[in-house]
Amino acid sequence: MSHMIDEIERVLIDEAVIGKRLDAMARDIERDFPHDPLVVVILLKGALVFAADLLRRVRRVLEMECLNVASYHGGTESSGQVAFLDRHFPEVRGRHVLLLDDILDTGRTLHAVSRRLSEEGALAVHSAVLLAKDKPRAVDVAVQYVGFEIGDEFVVGYGLDYQGKYRNLPYVGVLKPPPVRTPLPNH
Ligand code: 5GP
Ligand code: MG
Repeated sequence: MSHMIDEIERVLIDEAVIGKRLDAMARDIERDFPHDPLVVVILLKGALVFAADLLRRVRRVLEMECLNVASYHGGTESSGQVAFLDRHFPEVRGRHVLLLDDILDTGRTLHAVSRRLSEEGALAVHSAVLLAKDKPRAVDVAVQYVGFEIGDEFVVGYGLDYQGKYRNLPYVGVLKPPPVRTPLPNH
């Protein structure tokens, strides 16, 4: 594959397959939101690529807003905190909101952001993710549109990063394990 780079072990979902799935998701969204002008809330940076490709397929009047959130996962008992990093929260009062994220893992991010959107007066909040990991969620969260269910492994590409890299890959892939350093024989 021309976009294949050394660090990728295998392609999980290629560009053409993603494109076809986005066509179908766009039709579902059009069907579910026949009239109302929508506010689409995009979670940065992971959902950028997904949002750009999905929303250009949706033949509805909509507005785009972006949110920066930080999730603190693992580690302590208080993990699962989601911090809102923007100075302003999008105006969603009385609006139908479609929330977009790259991947549903523990569910904490979407749970926290949808709750905040409801607190801010959104009329209804629907969520769409490109990927959902097939594993139990730490919190209950309803997601109306799922692109692909994947196994519980770490993926990159199509918006998803590892240490800030690989977001621009046009496919979803799995990284090679980090190189093992063989110790120099000591004399
Ligand atoms: P959740 O709050 O559902 O546990 O996690 C969602 C966030 O965790 C995603 O927006 C993403 O940033 C990150 N994440 C979870 N799984 C993966 C993965 O396999 N690859 C990458 N790159 N990020 C992931
Ligand atoms: Mg993310």
